[in-house]
Amino acid sequence: MEVQDYLKKLKNKGYTSYIVGGYTRDYLLGLNSFDVDITTAATPNDVRKVFNINGKDNFGSIRIKDEPYIIDITTFRKEISYSGRKPKVVFIEEVLEDLFRRDFTINAICLDDNLEVYDPLGGFEDLKSKTIRVIGDIAKKFQEDPLRILRAIRFAVIYDFEIEENAYRFIKENGRLLKSLSYKRKIEELDLMFNSPFYQKALDLLEDLNLLDALGLKLEKDYFVPKTRIGIWIYVNPVEAYPFSKLDKKRMSDIRAILALGDIDRKTIFTYGIKNALIAGNLLGIKEDKIVSIYDSLPIKSESELVIDGDTIKSVLNLNSSLKIGKIKSDVLYEVLKGTLKNERSILIKYLLENWK
Ligand code: ATP
Ligand code: MG
Repeated sequence: MEVQDYLKKLKNKGYTSYIVGGYTRDYLLGLNSFDVDITTAATPNDVRKVFNINGKDNFGSIRIKDEPYIIDITTFRKEISYSGRKPKVVFIEEVLEDLFRRDFTINAICLDDNLEVYDPLGGFEDLKSKTIRVIGDIAKKFQEDPLRILRAIRFAVIYDFEIEENAYRFIKENGRLLKSLSYKRKIEELDLMFNSPFYQKALDLLEDLNLLDALGLKLEKDYFVPKTRIGIWIYVNPVEAYPFSKLDKKRMSDIRAILALGDIDRKTIFTYGIKNALIAGNLLGIKEDKIVSIYDSLPIKSESELVIDGDTIKSVLNLNSSLKIGKIKSDVLYEVLKGTLKNERSILIKYLLENWK
């Protein structure tokens, strides 16, 4: 089924329905997108009947997976009160009020079952003029849910749009609202910004809007701005509370270890890998060519390429202490890396006998 066929099925049973949000936004920008948000007059029970499914709903939203699409079908609703970020919602029959509860006009453009635009809030105009405009009362919208502040910046960054000036001013004066947001949400939004080709704009906006402090970030201005997400995370020096994945943590600590050395040589590239070395090089302002050519000149690229292993050392030197064997192995490895010893079995064994016997 095409995405609009979901709308046709709902419409055939009499339920007004539109595609709204990110899918519509990206469709009109000519971008691919696979998360489809459908807003509909049908209740979750109606939706189950129309599509002959019996899955559970998540606060009135039913998810259908239809490779490559993930389709969330959500009943028209309005929010009647807020506690924390969680609104109390009631279902309604008209789409218009459902659009008012949304964050920005560019996220409230509807597509009907012929992929025609229905756009009572003027989001398509804002999309064309690259403007992030808040729907309704700016202060109220940002106070109700401060995540919207980060969403505004995220959209401005990833599409290279501008935040409308009154909203911009409000954000600039109310950055402290971000303090109530969980670090998980902060990481999600910042990751999207730092992954964008316009990451520099993210840094400029966060700084100009005075949000760094409320986000627990501090720019490391002694470094150059790196080009990749992980490098940028190091550049913004986040507080401990940010819940990075294990993998991200490991990479950040490896890159920081290189930075602490202050220079990038053969041993560093060998130990921490070319990817991490390149990012550290970005931060230190060392040319990528230089790092790549050092890497290319490495006689071995990983420990497993060394032609002798721990067992060889053990038998040649008649040793038992694995601590000692490890120490000797890293000595041999280092000599091979420096180029003072060729990675050939007879040469390395000779070296062992002459230096470690
Ligand atoms: P993306 O999927 O790229 O993150 P999106 O705009 O589709 O962007 P979703 O979280 O999928 O974001 O939300 C779908 C739609 O729901 C949004 O386009 C917007 O209309 C509305 N929405 C999402 N989050 C909020 C929010 N915090 N406040 C108000 N409306 C929101
Ligand atoms: Mg979406």
